[in-house]
Amino acid sequence: MTNNLDLLINFQPEKGTVRLGDDSVIESCGRGTVKILAKTSDGQVTPVYLQRVLWVPELGCCSLLSWRAIVSLGKGFSLRSSGGDMNVLRENKTEVIWGKLEDQEYVVQEEKELARKMTYQDWHEALGHPSPNYLKNDKYSNTSTIPSIPKDWQCETCITSKSTKRKPEPNTKRCDTPFELIYSDLSGKFSQQSFGNSWYYITFIEDCTRYAWIYHINAKSDTVKVPVYP
Ligand SMILES: [Zn+2]
Repeated sequence: MTNNLDLLINFQPEKGTVRLGDDSVIESCGRGTVKILAKTSDGQVTPVYLQRVLWVPELGCCSLLSWRAIVSLGKGFSLRSSGGDMNVLRENKTEVIWGKLEDQEYVVQEEKELARKMTYQDWHEALGHPSPNYLKNDKYSNTSTIPSIPKDWQCETCITSKSTKRKPEPNTKRCDTPFELIYSDLSGKFSQQSFGNSWYYITFIEDCTRYAWIYHINAKSDTVKVPVYP
C-alpha cells in the first residue's frame, strides 16, 4: 500500500479499509500496479510489478510491502532472513526483492531512475546558444559538469538563425529577338482550388517583348501539356 497516487499504474478507485500493525483502521481509496526497479543483494536490478497495491491517502509518507499479500498470490514465494537482510525469493530460490534493515525497518532496495545526463547541446541551448568560446569550463568556476564539445559539433538553430539570404542582382539586359529567351515559373500547390478547379499556375514571360502567358493547371504533370507558343 502507498499514499503516493503517482506510483499507481492502471489505477481503479475502490473504497476499502486497512488494519495497521497498531490495530488502527484507515481507509483505502483504490488500487493499481506499482513498478519498482528492485535491487537484489548481489547488485542486480530487475523491474518488479507489484499488483493490487492499495492507495491509502492517510498512510504516512512511506509505502508498505505486505508479506501476507505476497503469500496470497500463491506463486511459491518464500522469505529468507539473515543478519540485517530480508529477501523475497522466487520458487526457484532466486532473489527478487531485498529488504535491508535501516532504523528498525526493512527497506526495499530500489534503483532510482536517474535523470538523463545533460549533453553539450543541452547546455548550449539552456544557456541561450552561446558560442563554444563561452562554454569552456575555464570560463566558469562551477561548470565541471559541462561535457567537452563533441567533434564536428554544430547547432542547427544557430546555423539557421545566422544564415543570410542573398538576393540575386537585378537583370538589366534584354534579348534583342523575340522568343530568344522565355522565363517560366510554376506555382502551387495552393490550399484552395481556383474557380476553374486548378491547383497550380504556370507563367511564361518572353524576355524581349515582356509578353506574358499564365495557364492554370490541375497537376504538375500537366506542365508538359501547356502550349508554350500559343
Ligand atoms: Zn545553438
